[in-house]
Amino acid sequence: MSFSASVLTLYPEMFPGALGLSLAGRALEAGTWSLEAIQIRDFAPDRHRTVDDTPAGGGAGMVMRADVLAKAIDHASPEGDARPRLLMSPRGKPLTQARVRELAAGPGAVILCGRFEGVDQRVIDARGLEEVSIGDFILSGGEPAALVLLDAVVRLLPGVMGNAVSGEEESFENGLLEHPHYTRPQEFEGRVIPEVLISGNHKKIAAWRRAESERLTKERRPDLLRGGRTSSV
Ligand code: SAH
Repeated sequence: MSFSASVLTLYPEMFPGALGLSLAGRALEAGTWSLEAIQIRDFAPDRHRTVDDTPAGGGAGMVMRADVLAKAIDHASPEGDARPRLLMSPRGKPLTQARVRELAAGPGAVILCGRFEGVDQRVIDARGLEEVSIGDFILSGGEPAALVLLDAVVRLLPGVMGNAVSGEEESFENGLLEHPHYTRPQEFEGRVIPEVLISGNHKKIAAWRRAESERLTKERRPDLLRGGRTSSV
């Protein structure tokens, strides 16, 4: 069975978006994964198709209603659906390559995209939504976050990436950032490719890459070396 994504959104036109192109787009056409974008407004009870209301306790903005969202979730993910239910949320657990790998190994995901100030806490609790953040910044909606998550997952599905090895050598896969890359021409504006990379000595090349990985990680992401959040991959 292929990976199946159901995205609940007020903007289904945003999907597949960037995921309809390149590797993900080809895999979508080939049936390696499937995507349905569900309009949350279709589950609103009134003729104005209202999905939000003012926050209890006052304050700015609007909150997405628990009853409308629950109906949409129950439609997308009826009882017995084994797919995890995710809510894109800046309050969520930061997304890691380890979680991306788990998702890619599973049956798919049901992904709720928030808008406005966010969603009523009761639907998060009642439907057991797993809150996932893509970083410490605020987007205007969960849709770009869902696209980011799905992009990371889809490239790991069997057959999507031509060269499987390149997936395994990437940043975070071994708890380190990746080494620098070079390609022809041999000289660019007076800068040359490091000698070792054109030496043909594979042992030395591997040692150089490892050392560069360690240097970059120490410089840029010392938290990874201390057992930070992605180092357990
Ligand atoms: N008031 C909220 C922000 C709401 S932003 C707060 O301060 O926490 C509106 C929606 O965008 C959110 O419901 C969520 O679905 C999405 N979103 C914003 N930033 C995000 C992030 N960093 N990761 C994942 N989703 C995000």
